[in-house]
Amino acid sequence: MNIEAQCCGLVILICLRYFYSRQRKIGLKSEMIFSSFLYITIAGLIFDILSIVVLTASIGNIPQVVIDLIGKIYIALLVCVSYSAVMYLIVDFYTNRFLNAHFLICIIMASVGSVIVFFLPIKFYVEGRVVYSYGPATIATYIFCFLAFSYMGFCIIRYGKKIPIVRRNAMLIWTAVFIISAGIQFLVPKLLLVSFAGAVGMMITYLVLENPESNIDKRFGCFNSHAFSLYLAEKYANGEKFYLSTVSMIINLDDVTYIEKAVRFFHEFLRELSVFRNIGAFKMSAPEVVIVSEDENEMQKILAFISDKAPKIAERCGLHRPIFTYMPDSTVAQNQSEVLAILETTRIEESNKYNNNEMVIIDGSAVEKVRREEEVAHIIRAALEEDRVEIFFQPIYSIKERCFVSAEVLVRIRMPDGSVLPPDTFIPVAEKNGSVLEIGKRIFQKACLFLHNNKNLEQFGFKYLEINISGVQCEQENLAAEFFDVLTISGVSPSQINLEITETASIRTKAILLKNMKWLIEKGVSFSLDDFGNGRSNLNYLSDMPVSIVKFDQTVTEQFFKKEKVHRITTDVVRMLHNLNLKIVAEGVETKDHLDAMTILGVDYIQGYYFSRPIPTDDFLKFLEAHPAPKADEYETLEAIN
Ligand code: C2E
Ligand code: CA
Ligand code: CA
Repeated sequence: MNIEAQCCGLVILICLRYFYSRQRKIGLKSEMIFSSFLYITIAGLIFDILSIVVLTASIGNIPQVVIDLIGKIYIALLVCVSYSAVMYLIVDFYTNRFLNAHFLICIIMASVGSVIVFFLPIKFYVEGRVVYSYGPATIATYIFCFLAFSYMGFCIIRYGKKIPIVRRNAMLIWTAVFIISAGIQFLVPKLLLVSFAGAVGMMITYLVLENPESNIDKRFGCFNSHAFSLYLAEKYANGEKFYLSTVSMIINLDDVTYIEKAVRFFHEFLRELSVFRNIGAFKMSAPEVVIVSEDENEMQKILAFISDKAPKIAERCGLHRPIFTYMPDSTVAQNQSEVLAILETTRIEESNKYNNNEMVIIDGSAVEKVRREEEVAHIIRAALEEDRVEIFFQPIYSIKERCFVSAEVLVRIRMPDGSVLPPDTFIPVAEKNGSVLEIGKRIFQKACLFLHNNKNLEQFGFKYLEINISGVQCEQENLAAEFFDVLTISGVSPSQINLEITETASIRTKAILLKNMKWLIEKGVSFSLDDFGNGRSNLNYLSDMPVSIVKFDQTVTEQFFKKEKVHRITTDVVRMLHNLNLKIVAEGVETKDHLDAMTILGVDYIQGYYFSRPIPTDDFLKFLEAHPAPKADEYETLEAIN
């Protein structure tokens, strides 16, 4: 169990070295340290084997000084191995200013240890095939290795949170294997386990941490998003500049063959891109490829290549033109998470645009935007936690009934200083990060609580509340059931609820929305189509949406006064909607002129600043009291006058 074990260890390490050298690398510091770690371990094993050979083969023929030298080089390398393990453990601290200091300590300790070991006497025990060293040099080796492991322990305790958990665990396994084998070797010196154990530990480290699979996207053969995070982390930690460009496809869930087409596109694109040598290409989990280079000229060539080739490949694959971005100055972002957030925001934003023919330049303003979004996301989280999400009401007037029959529920965030944050500032962020689901739930609960607490509003002519639901909520399969539970608990009649939807859903989400709508309509809830006429609505949509009210966007009221053509079209649309048995709300009615025009146009309900801005609960209750429905006889008189 001596030289055979060391030879097996050597074979393992040589294989590892071979695979590692063939593997594609991003150029990270951790890769460099692992490579040295591997070389030192191999050198240690070679000298271990050599020392056994010279000791057992012919003690008399080889000068003692050579034998001592080989034995000392071996144990000095053991000291170096243990300090390279420490360096490898902490290599991801690059954000830490003290990293270089830690590296320096390791190098000094390894050098001092090696020199001391070198100058101390060494003795060898040789009996048949049993060979081991002992004496002061060997004891010093144990001491220096022990110091290295204590240092490692100190780093884990002191910087535990900064060390990625996989790295910490892998190095703990490596250390455990090493210490146990050293312990056994110390107690039973005939069992020369350390080198073999070192090789096994190295293999574990390789498989867990430097595993080629973990940085490579198997399907496309380029780097993956994990590798991209590592690349960014190191670039920002070292303050190194780089140039970045992305190519992404717009996700089209309505096309069942979309994924197949996108895979073909990225395959072809990456294959053509492979002629460029000084770049890194990363396939992200979204349909996006990120290309980085430290060479500006190379990046300019890449940009020309992308603009020329990518649209052609997309066309061949039956896809829309891809979205291109270019980040000419990586220092506008401060760290990797900012870059990732900027790329995501830009991709989502650009895919919502109709025309994206230009290369999108990611500059300081994009970064500012992402930072603001972060801030808003924080405000939303705090508001939800501290229950500062409030509802305001904007009364809706019925021309026929001459009273306020309804109100739109509009969300607000109450800031700690008492000021109020309007929804346009936070709803888009909430839709992006998903918190709109929780906001929507709270709004619905609060609206139901309002109806539960104010059962007497009918006396003023008030009938129902209009509540906005976001496109993101519409994608939830259980939306209807959740709403219905709230209605049941609060004892509110479904007929008191009208839900406002907009026309943003794709075919897939439309199917879920329709299912939810059908279910709720059966229970008695009604629906409105919001923002009609804002440029994105189309009449086809109306034909298969079971809504009972259409809400004209504010732009309709505005344009109505400005353009004669709009005037005529609106008149026709009103007639058509009435023929479809739909009621119409005109929004954004600000003046008496607006009101008169909308009345003549024939809309059914009026909402706007002319009557009231959105107001808090108490003000709304006072408003209703002050504007009750006309009494039956008054009403008849009014009817007669008209
Ligand atoms: P929206 O659904 O179109 O709501 C109408 C917006 O028009 C409200 O803005 C309202 O204050 C404003 N408005 C009403 N009358 C007038 C007027 O005469 N002149 C002008 N200039 N504006 C008027 P608000 O409350 O700031 O809400 C903005 C948008 O935020 C809403 O547009 C809606 O899309 C969204 N939102 C509001 N509350 C909620 C909510 O509870 N859930 C969701 N998902 N979205 C909401
Ligand atoms: Ca609305
Ligand atoms: Ca609206």
